[in-house]
Amino acid sequence: MSDFILSTGLSFGGIQVEADQEVIIIGGGPAGLTAALYAARASANPVVLIGEAVGGQAATSHEIENYPGFPQGVGGAALAQEMQSHAERFGARFLFEKATEVDFHTYPLQVRTRAKQYTAKAVIVSTGSSPRKLGVPGEARFSGHGVSYCATCDGYFFKEESVVVVGGGNSALDESLFLTRLVNDVKVIHRRDQLRGDPILQERALANPKIAFIWDTIVEAILGEDEVNAVRLRNVKTGEVSTMETDGVFIYIGHIPNTKLFEGQLELDGAGYIVTDRRQHTSVPGVYAAGDVQDPIFRQIVTAAGTGSAAAIEAIRFLDEHRYKEQSDE
Ligand code: NAP
Repeated sequence: MSDFILSTGLSFGGIQVEADQEVIIIGGGPAGLTAALYAARASANPVVLIGEAVGGQAATSHEIENYPGFPQGVGGAALAQEMQSHAERFGARFLFEKATEVDFHTYPLQVRTRAKQYTAKAVIVSTGSSPRKLGVPGEARFSGHGVSYCATCDGYFFKEESVVVVGGGNSALDESLFLTRLVNDVKVIHRRDQLRGDPILQERALANPKIAFIWDTIVEAILGEDEVNAVRLRNVKTGEVSTMETDGVFIYIGHIPNTKLFEGQLELDGAGYIVTDRRQHTSVPGVYAAGDVQDPIFRQIVTAAGTGSAAAIEAIRFLDEHRYKEQSDE
């Protein structure tokens, strides 16, 4: 962590550095939004590079029932909007720019977007994760034409139709329940005969007359002409192959961390998650990570927000320590 010396303010190896931003936050999901609030309230004028939309994966949830303080539940997009307004109230700036390249081997830290090059004294990485793909024939071809990873976004297009949901975790159950408001029936296709989702969601899904479960089964191919019209299934216990008609396929088989940008820059674990210590420090001083990009275990909005606040507190501490050193060296 300390193979660099900050002797006179923000200097590396005695070289004085100029940084045009105090704190840059890459990613605008719950972790980044919370980091922005904390950094803004510490007067660090954070800039948040949010890419195309605020809220990350959380914004695609139709209803969040386990974020504290919302006993009636809250929509994912609405919660993200509130979090953004909250951070903006204290001076955080949100830019619809996507980081395309970073250089953390030099200091100040470099962050590039298509439009600009930024330097920062501290960076918080909160780029989240993306839906895992099934990787079967037809998936890419019918993406947006019957294949979806977001029931909240696309469920409406399947009104009074039949759909399948792939997966057995909380997302598969949550989104199946949401789809029952719109579609005629949902078939949940799961590769085992036991669900991974929370008991409360399992109970609700198993009791819902519009939801049927197809156990021990995988999707081998997604079929259709211009749009999806069927899936080819294989029972993993019996080996039996069958074709089932459907109008749409919603895939919820987990997530992969969005860390391609940081390969060779930050230490990643075997699954591609950013390695952090208990204080959200990454392998590079001045760079912190928060939320799903560094969390293969909990992946909750509240834990993402929690690590976002911790990352910002540590980033502010980093800036303060070096400012203090600068003053005491003068
Ligand atoms: P997840 O918990 O990792 O579940 C993924 C599911 O997909 C598992 O059932 C898994 O099967 C199955 N799967 C994985 N790879 C597959 C493949 N190649 N083919 C077929 N099936 C495959 O992911 P998630 O449901 O997206 O949830 C992610 C996190 O968000 C979790 O921590 C979850 O608790 C949280 N979350 C919470 C809520 C809530 O609290 N309401 C809602 C949504 C998400 P196996 O079971 O056999 O491994």
